[in-house]
Amino acid sequence: MAWTSRKYSIGRNEVSPTQRKPHIALLGTGGTIAGKARGDDPRVAYDCSSLSIDEVLAMCRGIEQKATISANQILQKGSENFSFTDFIAIAREVWTYAFDDSFDAVIVAQGTNTIEELAYFLNLTIPTSKPLIVTGAMRPPSAMGSDVCPNLYDAVCVAAHSDSCGMGAVVVMNSEIHAARDVIKSNSFKLDAFESQFGPLGYVVDGAPRYYRRPFRKHTTSSEFDIRHLQALPMVEMIPAYEGLTARVVSEAASSSAGLIVIGTGGGSIPESLIEPIKDAQSRGAFVIRASRSPEGVVVRNAAHPDDEYEWLVVDDQQPAKARILLALALQNDPTKTALQRCFHEY
Ligand code: ASP
Repeated sequence: MAWTSRKYSIGRNEVSPTQRKPHIALLGTGGTIAGKARGDDPRVAYDCSSLSIDEVLAMCRGIEQKATISANQILQKGSENFSFTDFIAIAREVWTYAFDDSFDAVIVAQGTNTIEELAYFLNLTIPTSKPLIVTGAMRPPSAMGSDVCPNLYDAVCVAAHSDSCGMGAVVVMNSEIHAARDVIKSNSFKLDAFESQFGPLGYVVDGAPRYYRRPFRKHTTSSEFDIRHLQALPMVEMIPAYEGLTARVVSEAASSSAGLIVIGTGGGSIPESLIEPIKDAQSRGAFVIRASRSPEGVVVRNAAHPDDEYEWLVVDDQQPAKARILLALALQNDPTKTALQRCFHEY
């Protein structure tokens, strides 16, 4: 399934005015970027997922100078409502455009609440070196100081540039380009809402991406996950460990899940009272993976708990919600502890 990314190089990666403009697929799925203001304070109350992607695009004058954009509405819902089924459906659409020779890049416009999860899913499942961009907005188009057009314009600039080839899926928000693996929504309302543990990959400056680093872990073309024939993913539950968490919650979560991401404190420490209930869940077939509620850092094997003895796995530095996605995909390929742990150290 080889794909050779088309280069638009003239001088230093500039698009030549004599060459054809890049052709970009823009997929609308809803979210604030497609929101309509309601009430007096347009920054607070609005109806999410109301405008079509064509309507949103039409508001961003000048964007067509950068690229030929083909917009397609593939879903219309807030991203907090996305399920694994939606992820698979969106990824299939992205796949189609990524492997269509008439398209040079794909942008997904979605709600910001779970932008990092969909971006990571695409990062793991679309084996292309074409630019894959996910963007959204913190303020709807009608709001004062809306970031809809700046973010969409930046996403197009990133998608249209050959430097973005082979970067894996990236999230473009607030003039920053973040690696799908690392980015998290760290603020619920500010325009500057996204952060990556190791910083963004780069910025969008004067209508072009400016990269300073590239992702090291496996993604897209080096990923082993194939969704072409996938209909569903196994249930993986997340359990946040806190003082007073009862065994009942663990058993409930374990009853129907193939994996349990236990979000411990600090280096993934799990309260003593939960060790036996977790082992019990494990004896019923669920894989147990230790994560941390700290947004940054690493969960080290056999440090806070004897993982070898308990036959538990650790997430390395992955955020619980992303570890959940990786585990669900990895369970499709080789559901053994060694293979699953390898995935957490390679992706
Ligand atoms: N509720 C929205 C969502 O779909 C919020 C947003 O887009 O920022 O995630």
